[in-house]
Amino acid sequence: MAQITCSFCGRNKKDVDLMVSGISAHICNFCIDQAYQILGEEDKNKKPGKTPKVKLKKPKELTDFLNQYVIGQYEAKKVLTVAVYNHFKRLLQKGEENDDIRIEKSNIIMVGDTGTGKTYLAKTLAKVLEVPFCIADATVLTEAGYVGEDVESILTRLLQAADYNVEAAEKGIVYIDEIDKIARKSDNPSITRDVSGEGVQQALLKLLEGTVVNVPPQGGRKHPDQKMIAVNTENILFICGGAFDGIGRHIAKRLNTQPMGFNKYVEGRQVDRANLLQYVTAQDLKSFGLIPELIGRLPVVTHLDPLDRDTLKSILTEPKNALTKQYKKLIEMEGVKLVFEESGIDYIVEKAVEYNLGARGLRSICEAIITDAMYELPSDDSIKELVIDAKYAQEQFDKSKFKKLQVA
Ligand code: ADP
Repeated sequence: MAQITCSFCGRNKKDVDLMVSGISAHICNFCIDQAYQILGEEDKNKKPGKTPKVKLKKPKELTDFLNQYVIGQYEAKKVLTVAVYNHFKRLLQKGEENDDIRIEKSNIIMVGDTGTGKTYLAKTLAKVLEVPFCIADATVLTEAGYVGEDVESILTRLLQAADYNVEAAEKGIVYIDEIDKIARKSDNPSITRDVSGEGVQQALLKLLEGTVVNVPPQGGRKHPDQKMIAVNTENILFICGGAFDGIGRHIAKRLNTQPMGFNKYVEGRQVDRANLLQYVTAQDLKSFGLIPELIGRLPVVTHLDPLDRDTLKSILTEPKNALTKQYKKLIEMEGVKLVFEESGIDYIVEKAVEYNLGARGLRSICEAIITDAMYELPSDDSIKELVIDAKYAQEQFDKSKFKKLQVA
């Protein structure tokens, strides 16, 4: 009988682990491995040439998706989805170069207390849009040449999120958190330079407007020997967010000094003093310390509402990946049914309000209440159901570090 050998490398069947036979040829496992690697390399080389598709989704479709995850914040959702929709329409217009009417970029600024869902909204939006998305923190940025990060580092993150596919990154979304922290420190020009405030705002201008930026692919400071990747920011959508602590004062002041006199009405309705952020305008952002040029490049201003008890309760139970649903799933894996009684849910919400922890605190309170059970259940087959009512929640909470903190 003829010897079976690999048609590619000539190895004998007995010298290899596996030989795959076709109609008139054979291939050994070594050659399969090698061919697979070649395919991988080819794929990598091709990547920059691939054109990422942009799917146009209507504002209402986008809102429907957001509603599955983010509770309330209807104003912000409306403003965000319209801005994103227009942004993508603008991308589609790109091919028509002879069109006289150029749609301008609509970067967004969101003002809302910490933990009200600014990042979560941006993140969820990027998920539905299927474009590269990254979060950057404005607090670490400094003017070029000072200790901290250059503004270009933001684009390094976006490139990484896009797996270094420049074309995809150029259509991505960047969320810049804590934009309020780079507000001008004071109105008086001081002797020391404001390198982490106004200096950064100046550096951000070009990025936001649209320019070609040389980005260090691995981040860090630029240095002469480093190979840079050129990224055009013209089609990158920037969403900025910040808590703007104290901006309420500026808003209140503006509302009271309307030309109409001592005005407690906005558009015919009495001013809602509990939620002044809903009246925020570019003018207030300027009073807070953002420079007018930066505000000009963030033309869409929106706000997030503070989270009240009812909203917190909905956040705990309603979203697709609500915390209660996550815990139920975790405990179900032990063959135990987890039931959240209404009174238990109310207790958790009450504590989040009492400790002023917002939506972010819901998780730590739940952990404090359920950790004991998650420790015991895997080793105890006799328990088939765990009911979290106010009594159980309180007992567990009182044992937790929260209570200890309060005593201290
Ligand atoms: P910030 O406004 O400070 O950026 P985040 O978006 O990080 O706040 O919110 C913190 C967490 O709180 C989110 O990860 C999310 O789980 C939850 N959360 C906050 N607001 C909402 C909301 N409106 N709907 C659902 N979850 C929310």
